Amino acid sequence: MKPEQLVRPEILALKAYPVPSSEGMVKLDAMENPYTLPEDLRKELGRALAGLDLNRYPTPSPQKLREAIARRMQVPAGVDVLLGNGSDELIQLLIMALARPGAAMMFPSPTFVMYQMGATFNGMKAIAVPLRDDFSFDADAFIARMNAENPALVFIAYPNNPTGVLYAEEDIVRVIKACKGLVVIDEAYHVFAGRTFIGRIAEFPNLVVIRTVSKLGLAGIRLGYLVGRPEWVAELDKVRPPYNVSALTQTAALFMLERLDVLEEQAARIRRDREDLGKGLAGLKGVTVFPSQANFFLIRVPDAGKTYEGLKGQNVLVRNLSPAIRNCLRVTVGTPDENRILLAALREAL
Ligand code: PMP
Repeated sequence: MKPEQLVRPEILALKAYPVPSSEGMVKLDAMENPYTLPEDLRKELGRALAGLDLNRYPTPSPQKLREAIARRMQVPAGVDVLLGNGSDELIQLLIMALARPGAAMMFPSPTFVMYQMGATFNGMKAIAVPLRDDFSFDADAFIARMNAENPALVFIAYPNNPTGVLYAEEDIVRVIKACKGLVVIDEAYHVFAGRTFIGRIAEFPNLVVIRTVSKLGLAGIRLGYLVGRPEWVAELDKVRPPYNVSALTQTAALFMLERLDVLEEQAARIRRDREDLGKGLAGLKGVTVFPSQANFFLIRVPDAGKTYEGLKGQNVLVRNLSPAIRNCLRVTVGTPDENRILLAALREAL
């Protein structure tokens, strides 16, 4: 018996999410915060983790952590928090719960690939509505398509990955009002954009927000959170694996939420360095930079394959989005040193 005879054809047709080796590389491919924790905090965190009883399952729906998130992230009263093993898992849970037979989901495209993949995993129809050529959001076109297709689920990354573009709040509100399904605002990059829909959840019965601590500097612990009305959270909680957030993650997250200023300062630093990197990239001949409100830039170069390989040859790892997005690379904002290395390597590799 071969897997090809048993595995669903749409899974056989997929490629696993590509994660190239980054050993010895300047790693600017995954929108991570480039800064580690200060030494004293690392030691203190080590002591907190050492106190755990790892023979026991973690708390299944850790109230303390959910409350700490609600408090530190300005979640309004009357709105609940659901935790995920990264926001990747929350995307899966949302799709799993809403993929009724024949139901469709919709998103502006290009965007984060896990929306489309989640639809494939769960047998849900996915409708990708193109952004304009400059990756701005055409709300009229999106709403017209939504009216025609009546999706049960809409994903909007705010700001968008891989473009970095933050859509106009009024346009998103128009989508939420016109949508008969659930609208998920994915605020993975909100620390770099400073805009959020969390305060508007009470206004709309069909709005939830998902976030992650990954871009804030904790990608390694895998923690995402969904903020939504209790009636949505109650249904989504049914498809959540009971112990989806490990005891190590829970403890590390609680520890860091009490010291959030450390991560917020790092994010502020990244926002400032984004300005300089943006200018540096724009100054390179042949490079088009798309304006970004996230911790990365999408750039268009004359030959993305050649530039990607040229950078790799100089130990700089970025993400090549070509051919899906013609001749485009995505580069994460690193430390000032890393940004200088990137600019110098790009000059060679163009
Ligand atoms: N949403 C968006 C828009 C992303 O870009 C990413 C990660 N690249 C995620 C969600 C998933 O983040 P995580 O699973 O690390 O929380």
